[in-house]
Amino acid sequence: MAVLRLTILGNQGPYPGPGGACSGYLVRSQDASVLVDCGPGVMSKLEEQIDLPSLDAIVISHYHPDHYSDFLTMRYAFHYIDSSGGMNRPVTLALPLVGMEWFLQEIVATGYRHLFEIVPIEHGTRLRAGGRDSGLIMDFRQMSHAIPSFGGIVYAGKPVDGARAPLAYTSDTGPCESLDGMAGSAYALLAEASLLDGDLRNKVPGHLSAAEVGRVAAEHGVGRLLLTHLHPANLLEESVREASEAYGGEVEVAAMGKTYALNAPPSEEMEDEHEI
Ligand SMILES: [Zn+2]
Repeated sequence: MAVLRLTILGNQGPYPGPGGACSGYLVRSQDASVLVDCGPGVMSKLEEQIDLPSLDAIVISHYHPDHYSDFLTMRYAFHYIDSSGGMNRPVTLALPLVGMEWFLQEIVATGYRHLFEIVPIEHGTRLRAGGRDSGLIMDFRQMSHAIPSFGGIVYAGKPVDGARAPLAYTSDTGPCESLDGMAGSAYALLAEASLLDGDLRNKVPGHLSAAEVGRVAAEHGVGRLLLTHLHPANLLEESVREASEAYGGEVEVAAMGKTYALNAPPSEEMEDEHEI
């Protein structure tokens, strides 16, 4: 199976801390590049990695500003590139179907809509970018959040029967069946860990604590756990400690600017040595 490269453009929520950025992840295979979420601070980090016209698709997981606010300014960049003759085709923009008309009207706006090819997202939608052998596939799942929120199981190249996908992304969610399903289907889990176990948990439904993420990952045999959507007020060490204890192994913070080369293991028995 082809290698998937995941670059972390932002790892905080629901607002960025000093020098930080909110949700934004560049997912690449040999011939496809997809931006998943576009929160505050993400666009400038994206441009350090890639020229905007080479993006195949932009995915907005849900309509909370910490996941889309930089799209407002990104429109201007695409408009400029298009006016200068630098865009060969519209960029795929995958958006949750519920609320899509609002997003198109208020956020994309009429003057920019021609720059994008809109793909509505529902539970079970499959998005393809690039070619069949070396492109990307994202299978969306509706998660448990205050508004419809879509995580995804991501493949590079052709999915192999019986093998785990290299990556799944939780978007914003509380514990739910979709979370269990994606943890059982992917080698690496990029998981929101907005909370720490403790009093906050009862006050914020639709999010996960680091310990909850660790438990789910352990239960479903996740090979690599990356924490994201971390609250700027929480200590990273504390989130990692909670998640590691529950996971029973090493847990990493999805580090801003870092690229992870992820490859699904060929079988369930081989859970180590698959990172390139
Ligand atoms: Zn969020």
